[in-house]
This record gives sequence, structure tokens and C-alpha cells, in this order.
Amino acid sequence: MRRFLLLYATQRGQAKAIAEEISEQAVSHGFSADLHCVSESEKYDLKTETGPLVMVVSTTGTGDPPDTARKFVKEIHNKTLPTDFFAHLRYGLLGLGDSEYTYFCNGGKVIDKRLQELGAQHFYDTGHADDCVGLELVVEPWIDGLWAALTKHFTSLGGQEDMSGALPRASDAPSSTAVEPELLHIQSQVELLRLEDEGKGDSELREQNETNRSQLSRIEDFDSSLVHSVPPLSQTSLSIPAAPPEYLEVHLQECLDQEGNQASVPSVDPIFQVPILKAVQLTTNDAVKTTLLLELDISKIEFSHQPGDSFNVICPNSDSEVENLLQRLQLADKRAHRVNLRIKTDTKKKGAAVPQHVPEGSSLQFILTWCLEIRAVPKKAFLRALGDHTSSAPEKRRLQELCSKQGAADYNRFIRDANVCLLDLLHAFPSCQPPLSLLLEHLPKLQPRPYSCASSSLRHPDKLHFVFNIIEFPSNTTAASLRKGVCTGWLATLVAPFLQPNSDVSDADSGDTLAPEIPISPRATNSFHLPDDPSAPIIMVGPGTGVAPFVGFLQHREKLQEQHPDGNFGAMWLFFGCRHKDRDYLFREDLRHFLKTGVLTHLKVSFSRDTVPEEEEAPAKYVQDNLQRHSQQVARILLQENGYIYVCGDAKNMAKDVNDALVEILSREAGADKLEAMKTLATLKQEKRYLQDIWS
Ligand code: NAP
Repeated sequence: MRRFLLLYATQRGQAKAIAEEISEQAVSHGFSADLHCVSESEKYDLKTETGPLVMVVSTTGTGDPPDTARKFVKEIHNKTLPTDFFAHLRYGLLGLGDSEYTYFCNGGKVIDKRLQELGAQHFYDTGHADDCVGLELVVEPWIDGLWAALTKHFTSLGGQEDMSGALPRASDAPSSTAVEPELLHIQSQVELLRLEDEGKGDSELREQNETNRSQLSRIEDFDSSLVHSVPPLSQTSLSIPAAPPEYLEVHLQECLDQEGNQASVPSVDPIFQVPILKAVQLTTNDAVKTTLLLELDISKIEFSHQPGDSFNVICPNSDSEVENLLQRLQLADKRAHRVNLRIKTDTKKKGAAVPQHVPEGSSLQFILTWCLEIRAVPKKAFLRALGDHTSSAPEKRRLQELCSKQGAADYNRFIRDANVCLLDLLHAFPSCQPPLSLLLEHLPKLQPRPYSCASSSLRHPDKLHFVFNIIEFPSNTTAASLRKGVCTGWLATLVAPFLQPNSDVSDADSGDTLAPEIPISPRATNSFHLPDDPSAPIIMVGPGTGVAPFVGFLQHREKLQEQHPDGNFGAMWLFFGCRHKDRDYLFREDLRHFLKTGVLTHLKVSFSRDTVPEEEEAPAKYVQDNLQRHSQQVARILLQENGYIYVCGDAKNMAKDVNDALVEILSREAGADKLEAMKTLATLKQEKRYLQDIWS
């Protein structure tokens, strides 16, 4: 067996699952993968590594490497390392990302770039897989091509010295679609800048990407559905992935006490139970989205935070969905049983381990409620395995189609884009009866949900505010009903009995502690903070709940100004946007108050759905329209006054459009071309004067 080192840097398990897939396939190609999480630094040593290295790296936040890779990234960026530190290393890297975000695949790119700077060389071209169009479009051909690249690498060790020429290209690998996977990436701004030398502008690339996307999403037939396919797919012979080896053995043990229900959620961060002191509905009942503010009591815990920080809420799955799942799995009578897991002695899965997110000996109900992301969109490997537990032949065939190469478009359309979850599948495929072990093998860890702090500890010591929309989307199981977001739905139900109607948040009385407690945990701090120098002017752009951290900024600044009446404080601009002045103008009274006291120097609000009489000048619709209307001031703050711009809110549309508006503003006001303006913005980002806290 020819050994290679296989490292994954994962945030939500995606990169890990792909690395495991590579490890499993390796055996049949005559290789042996030494598989580790990049954080397990005691298990490998790149400095002395003699075998080829394969890395799978995901991206989190706004282009950061995953938390599990932070230490690794820090270490390889040590400036004292010589440029030949990794000269002995040959590697191939697969980056995962989402091109909806500005810094696509940046987690992998950061590592890739640094490995090169330290002398490491590719034995195989880097792949960039895009979750926006389906990771598998690149992942599958990349893995297919990896085996030839590894073979070539090992062969070259047998005599040929020069490894740099004729790299096997990821795009040489058999592709699962007619579209060249490499072309599917929306280039990040950084890449666009790099491409300047090659004479390619952003419009050309965008156009190219648009074409690729439309090619990809063109679906000729309209009669297929989640459970039904039409020719040619229904008649074609399928190439389906190999069945993922089963590896868990589940023992359900009757439990007479309640101990199994008192397990705690495994977490590397400390988890605190905190009471909810207050819940306020910030929007009127006829608003498009319902926004709530919750106030938490953090007086009894060690929880320091500053405006701009975010924190995690650890949330359970909905009781009714857990109940449905128990019923459907025919395990309702065993809900209180303890679940004991062991690795199957005869499993073919290499490096099989009991999932760390399933606490030993906890009850089945606890695991389904607190540990497994039962809403996760099932991966193809899961569909493949579910097919093996489906007795009806047509249902089994459809599940196989959905995980096959030929059925990739159907998978994207009916599973991924439709946000289908396991319960939906069990509902749609009644003869599918998977064992519990399969769920434990395939369902990922239930992730905590991050929220921005919407208060300052100077203004509200011992309290923590946060805001959120109650997310609702159509359910696939029952077309008539709406499904609520896992965390926001849970929080909304918890606070419903004592919810205060739309009111002035600052002055509303906290009242007595009425509510239940919720588990929260701190998150690693980021750089989305007020500037160290309070005299620096700042521009805050936060439509919708994106205004949350800025309320914290303003509270903080107000207190500082009270404490230092002679201090030199820079201008604070806020660009806020909502749909209707009278329905979802979040924190209206608070913002007016900050304006009155001079803390907030400029407040620019846009209403996207209010109509105005025809004779009046059309008001700004979106935050970026208002930015454009104040382009001189915006450019002056950023280019001449060493100021800062913060953007918080929706990543998919708003943040991109604001970015485009800034490019236009900087290019117009500085008389520079678009590319120059993009470079300026990239520099501002590097200097941490253009900061984003954007979520999808
Ligand atoms: P939203 O849906 O973004 O809507 C707010 C306003 O933005 C509406 O008037 C909407 O107008 C407008 N809008 C729509 N498309 C836009 C575009 N391309 N450019 C500029 N404005 C646009 O507000 P939200 O529902 O409150 O969502 C905010 C986002 O912030 C979410 O993605 C959330 O995850 C994220 N976030 C939340 C927190 C938090 O702590 N809760 C923190 C950080 C980020 P129309 O709908 O009329 O088009």
C-alpha cells in the first residue's frame, strides 16, 4: 500500500466527510490514507513528512479557514519560517466554499498560498468546490483524478526527479457534467485583482459564470419530482457511488431512571444556562418578517463581550419533528432507552470512530433532540445508504437516481435547493426503513446558531441583547404548513407567553425573570469591533437585523462620550434599511435618541416597499442607494479621513450589492477605474477598515 497523509479542516463536517470518502476509496486504488483532522497535530508532522499530502479545507465566516484549522494556519504563517521549510512536501488541496460569498474558498486558498510560499509543490492541481452550485460537481471529478495524480507521484519517485512539469490537472479528471468544473467558480475579488495581469475584467468573468450557471440550472423536463423521474434519467443505467461502509453498532438499553436525559451537549466551548429576562417584538404584526429582541441575564456567568462580538445559542430540534422521527423509525417506545455505540468489528470503514457529538449512554430522545442536525440536507452517500434500506423497487431506484452521477441535476433541484431533510425523505419514500445506526452515521452534529450581540456591556452590564427574525419556509412534508427555523422557531415558542409588543427597547421594563433558561456559549472574537481610535469616523451599513451590532456600537459610544465629555469622537454614520417605515423600522426610537444626543451623527434610512406619491422624488430603496447619494462623504471618510466601514446583514445579495456600490463610489469620487477601486477596497479590507459580518 502506498501511503499518503490526508488532512481535513472542517467546520460543519463537510470536509471531514469528503476526506473520509477519499480514505475509503484509497484502498481500492492501492493507496492507504493516513487520515487526521488538521487540529490533531500530535498525529502528524509536516516538517518530516515524506509521503504526499492531500488536504480538504472548508471555509467559514467571510472567508476564514475553519476553527479546526486556526492553530495550523497560525503556525504556518509564522514569519520566521524559511522559504524552503516545506520544500520536501508534495501536496494536493481541495478547497470548499460558496461562491455566494465574496471570498470564495478562501480557507483553502490561504493554506494553499502559504504552503507554496514555504516551498511545497503541487503534485495535483487544487480543486475549488462550490456549495452554491453543488460541491459534488468539483469534488467527484477531483477525487477521480486524484488517484492518477498519486500514481504519477509515486512513479516519479522511482526515478524521475522533476515533479514540477506536467501536473495532472483536476480538470483532466472525468467530469460529471458537460460544464468545466473550474469555470463554475465565481471569482472572489482577490482573484479578480490577480487576474488583472491576464487582462480579464470582472464583467467578463461574471458573464462567463452567469452562462455556466444557466447551463447548469437548465432543466429540460418539468414533470419530475422528488419521488418521480422521467426519461432519459428514468431509463438510463446509473453510476451510483459505492455504498458507504456501515460502522456503528447500536445497543439500546432500557433505562429506569432519567439519567439518560440529563446528558449534556458535547462542546469545546463552555456552555452557560442563562435566563431570558425580556422578549420584545420589534415589528408590527403585519410586517413581512417578525423580529424579536431577547434580553439575557448574564450576571451570574463569566461572559465578557464587546459590541460586534457574536455568541452561540445551543438549540434543540423541534419536539414534534423528533416525535415524528421516533414514530417513523418505529422507536417511539424506546425513546428513553440509553444509546450505547460500538464500532462494528468487521467494518470496512478506515479509522471508524464513534461520533464525538453523541454523548455515551444518553437517551435516544436526547440524542435526536440535542445532538443530530435532523434538518440537514441528506448527502448523496446518505441517499445511497437509505436506498439499501428501501423495500419498494421504484422507491429504491429513485433514491439511487438521486445519488447517481446522471441524477445530479435532480439532486440539486429536489434535494439541495428544496432543503429536503431526512423526515421529508421518510415521508416521500414510505418503504424506506433505515436502522438507527444509519442515522447516527450520517446525520451531522446539530450546530449551535450564532447571533450578534446587540447591546453594550457599558450600557447594560450583566445583560446581553440579541435580535433575530422568526424564519419560516414551506415544509416539504405537508405542503400547507410552514416550517420554522430550528433555533428561531424554538426561541419564539419559548418566549411566546411573555412577549412584549413592539415598544421602545431601551426603556421597556425588564420585569421579573419569567422565562426559561437557554444554553449559550461564547464565540471566538473577530475584528468586527469599534476602532481603537474613537476619533476615527465610521460608516455602519446594516439593513434588517443587520443593524444589531450597531445598536451595541452606539450604546457603547454613548457611554464613552458620557464618561469623556471632552473626548474627540469621530462621526458615526448609519445606513439602515427596512421594508416599511411603520412595520419593521427596528430600534427606531433608540436610533432617534442617538441622533438627538449627537452620538449618531448621520442616520440614513431606506424603505424598500413603501410607496410614495408620484410627484415626490423617489426615495432611496436600499442601503446602497443611500450610500450612492452620499458618495462624496463616504469616499472622503474612507480615502482621506482614515475612516472605517462596517457591513452587517445578508451575505447573498445585500453585502455584494453594497460592495459593488462602494466600488462605484470609490472609482467615481477618486477618478480611478473600477479595478483600481477594487484594489482600494481590498486594501481597506486588509487594513481591517472595511469589515463585514455577513450571514446567509
Ligand atoms: P433583510 O431580509 O436583509 O431585509 C432588510 C432590508 O434589506 C429590506 O428592506 C430588504 O428589501 C432589503 N434588501 C433586500 N435585498 C437587498 C439588497 N440586495 N441590497 C440591499 N438591501 C436589500 O433583513 P433580515 O431578514 O433582517 O436579514 C438580515 C440578514 O442579516 C440575515 O441574513 C441574517 O442572518 C443576518 N444577520 C443577522 C444578525 C443577527 O444578529 N440577527 C447578525 C448579522 C447578520 P426587500 O425585501 O423589500 O427587497
